[in-house]
Amino acid sequence: MSLSRRRFLGGLLAGAAGTVVGCDDGGDGTADPTTTTAGPEAAPSTTVAGSTDLPPDLAAVVLPSDPFTLGVASGDPEPTSVVLWTRLAPQPLVPGGGMPEGVDAIAVEVATDDTFTGLVATGRFPVDTERGHSVHAVVEGLEPATTYAYRFRIGTYASPVGRTRTAPAADADVPVAIAVASCQRYGDGWYVAHRDMAAADLDAVVWLGDYIYEGDDELVRPLPPGGPTESEDLDGYRFRYATARLDPDLTANHHAHPWVVTWDDHEVRNNHTGEAGSVPVARRAAAYQAWWEHMPVRVPPPEITTFRLHRSVRLGANLELLVLDTRQHRSAPGCGGNLVEATCADLDDGTRTVLGPQQEEWLVGEAAASDARWTAVAQSVVVARAVVLDQLNADAWDGYPAARRRLLEALAPVRNAVFLTGDIHVQLVADVDDDGGAVVASELVTASTTSIVAPLYRDLVGFLPLAVPTIRHAAVAHGWIRCDVDADGWRATYREVADVADPASAVTDGPAFVIADGTPGARRA
Ligand code: FE
Ligand code: CA
Repeated sequence: MSLSRRRFLGGLLAGAAGTVVGCDDGGDGTADPTTTTAGPEAAPSTTVAGSTDLPPDLAAVVLPSDPFTLGVASGDPEPTSVVLWTRLAPQPLVPGGGMPEGVDAIAVEVATDDTFTGLVATGRFPVDTERGHSVHAVVEGLEPATTYAYRFRIGTYASPVGRTRTAPAADADVPVAIAVASCQRYGDGWYVAHRDMAAADLDAVVWLGDYIYEGDDELVRPLPPGGPTESEDLDGYRFRYATARLDPDLTANHHAHPWVVTWDDHEVRNNHTGEAGSVPVARRAAAYQAWWEHMPVRVPPPEITTFRLHRSVRLGANLELLVLDTRQHRSAPGCGGNLVEATCADLDDGTRTVLGPQQEEWLVGEAAASDARWTAVAQSVVVARAVVLDQLNADAWDGYPAARRRLLEALAPVRNAVFLTGDIHVQLVADVDDDGGAVVASELVTASTTSIVAPLYRDLVGFLPLAVPTIRHAAVAHGWIRCDVDADGWRATYREVADVADPASAVTDGPAFVIADGTPGARRA
């Protein structure tokens, strides 16, 4: 988005040295001469201290009820910029979301404190009426490594207050902390892990996919009525995202931290392979759009043939996140998919791909240019070799050996490569070795937030480290990984939810691992 510096609260911005808010809505953008001072008594709405006058057209919007039912979110932090998200939906589980026509802009307020007395910037941003009344407001002009409060306002309504944090400057040698999580099938459990993450002191939450499942169940908790058995169209996918966002613990985690997200298969359909798969184009387009409508991402909305999700997010001198899309461009599964013979002939086909040629080329360039101490590859499926009894998981990188070789070659220039992985719903820590057997990277696999562990993995997990020497740890659990990253090392601590069927479950530290700078392979702390 552009930084056109349109301002509607001129007096306020004039008092906020060096801070502006980018805005590209094409609105009138003129300063209102009557609103040169801010004060609670001037507020047209029921909001708290620090409120400022809205432009008359936004203040005049009449809505049937609170449009902020899905909360707010932030993501893809940069040193001076972050994406702020909301989606206007007075009736979030009803097709269309219950918004009246004609609402195409919204106000954003950013402050240094939750009461908005330290208001540093305001702006007017577009509401995407073609895409679920979602808002992706790219706010510019912020200070690095700084925590901000933000909210949206329209009519008489103010959104809940979110907190976000800008990235440290690229050369700042400061410790950073991230959460790593994935796989939150709604009916499989309570979002206790999100409550735990929300309370943690973090720079960002890194989400590795399976935010929704196209088909859900009620193993642990009931789904709201009226949803599809399986999501196949835009309303069906939106229903799943709205269901998740109505959960207070998930929303609290979005309100607490910026997120950096990618997707896995279930945002579309189980084990889907994008262009090469059997999911009809119209269904993929609906799934991609619903994902984008609900994620705080700094990428343009999806066009089915050109959607680019992969990107990099730099968090200071110590951490660069390379966010991959391992689904959209991958070749069809080899040898019929699922568990296949490791000797199966399809696997030798060097043209088969996981990332697709353009994303592979991008990765080569990013890795060659990266000067971060740690390069974390945020992606969905397991990279470490896991051949057991001559069988492998055709959906993981093992199922695409030539693509896996190119992946590791691409990352050869980086100082420390760490794969952050989801998908299999269990904890796994592995040395990633190349075809010559040299350990070239580390892999940390998060257990699921809630999603059940398939019986295959439940039975196999304890056996994995015995059968595969490069697998250092594997365990059935639920939760997330806390990663503390600095110049000396990377410390990963599994946070474990004792019982996802108990909404008040305890969350405790599980096993912890460290990776030393310059030495790939995580070891028990
Ligand atoms: Fe999953
Ligand atoms: Ca998956």
